[in-house]
Amino acid sequence: MHFAVIDTELKPLCTRHLQPMNRVDIYWKPEGAENLSCMTGYRCVIDKCGLFYDVYSGYHERPDGMVNALDTQYHCQEHGLSMYVASHALKGAVKHFKCPQYGCTRGESVHTAAA
Ligand SMILES: [Zn+2]
Ligand SMILES: [Zn+2]
Repeated sequence: MHFAVIDTELKPLCTRHLQPMNRVDIYWKPEGAENLSCMTGYRCVIDKCGLFYDVYSGYHERPDGMVNALDTQYHCQEHGLSMYVASHALKGAVKHFKCPQYGCTRGESVHTAAA
């Protein structure tokens, strides 16, 4: 797995609700491993949303512990990490994605038709 130094001050927004997400522990089983691993992830605070974010899978749902990634993801070309929504403009019509790697300034501004 790609080694990443993640910015600990990460404050990702839910890509659907544009609300700050809660920090949570995500448990997952690496291929061929016997034990579960734990990593920091984020979860939308809105009950029915169920959207998670972590720097490897990006925005995704976990219906049965399986990662179900959203179709729309942006990756940092330098670090290969999934970028998160750091801020937005025009009532969510423009989303500013950022690389979660500490010190990385790469980002992407994305226009979406419907928020
Ligand atoms: Zn949400
Ligand atoms: Zn980066």
